[in-house]
Amino acid sequence: MINNRPYIGRFAPSPTGSLHLGSLCTALASFLEARRQQGLWLLRIDDLDTQRNIKGSVDNILKTLYTFGLHWDRTEDYQSHYLKNYEEILIDLTKNQQTYPCICSRKILLAKQPCLCRDIISTQAHSSLRVRINPCLISFKDKLQGLTSHQFSNQNDDFLLKRRDGIIAYQFAVVIDDERQQVSQVVRGADLLDSTPNQIYLRQLLGLTPLNYMHIPVIIDEGGYKLSKQTRATAVDLKKPQAIIFKLLNLLKQNPPKELNQSPIKEQLEWAINNWNPLFLKNVRAICNND
Ligand SMILES: [Zn+2]
Repeated sequence: MINNRPYIGRFAPSPTGSLHLGSLCTALASFLEARRQQGLWLLRIDDLDTQRNIKGSVDNILKTLYTFGLHWDRTEDYQSHYLKNYEEILIDLTKNQQTYPCICSRKILLAKQPCLCRDIISTQAHSSLRVRINPCLISFKDKLQGLTSHQFSNQNDDFLLKRRDGIIAYQFAVVIDDERQQVSQVVRGADLLDSTPNQIYLRQLLGLTPLNYMHIPVIIDEGGYKLSKQTRATAVDLKKPQAIIFKLLNLLKQNPPKELNQSPIKEQLEWAINNWNPLFLKNVRAICNND
C-alpha cells in the first residue's frame, strides 16, 4: 500500500449503452473490495466523449446497479460538470511548457508516422494537445497483476491530453477525476492495465499522491473476445439479478455455496463481502464466459 488515504474506490462507466456482464463484473469486484475494506464506493459517469454517449444510458446504468444491490455512496459524479476545471489545469500545464499542440491528422497517426509537432510552434486552431514526456521509468505493483513497468523514452510517448475535437482525453480526465473524488484505490478491468503508466506519469507531473491499483480479469467470450459494446455484448437481464450475481461470483472464482443461487440479492452480497478474496484472481488477465 502506497496510498494512506482512507479507502475510497469508484466505478466509472461511460454512458455509451447498457451494462453488460463484463462491466457489471468490474462493478461488482470494485464494490466488494471497497465494502470488504470498509471503504466508500463512488459512482462516476464518464460522459466527456459526447459523440459516443447514448441517450438513456445513465438512467439505465443507475437502475441496473440499484437492481443488483450495488448501492454507491454520495451522489453520482458527472465528468461533464467539470469541463472548466480540466481546461484550467491544461492552461497551467501549457504555461509551464509541459504540453504542446499537435496538428497531425488521424490518418497520419493511424499510419504510425511520427508526430513531429513537439519542435514546431503551431498557431493552427484545430490542434490536439500532447504532454511533453520527460524520459523516465514508471513502475507500479498491481495487487493482482504484479509488477508492471513502462519506459517513457522519447516524443513518441507524448500522449494526448485533449483531442483535436476539443474533448478531454480519457488519460487526463481520469487523473483529475480521481483526485477530485479523493480516490485512493482503483479497481478496474485488466484491459486498462496498459494505460495505467500514463496516468501515474500525469499524477507525478501534477504532484499528486500515487494510488493503489487492482486490475481484475476481463470476461471474454468463447472466441477469446472481450465482452464489450463493440462485440455487441448483451445488456444484463434485470429480471434475473440473483442468477447473475451468483454467476459473477463464480466467474470471479469466489466459490459461492450452491444454495446462495436462490438467496435474495442482499444475502448474496453479504456473503460475498464477508468472503471476498480477490487473490483467487492473481495473475489472471481474462476469464472465459461459456454462455
Ligand atoms: Zn503531431
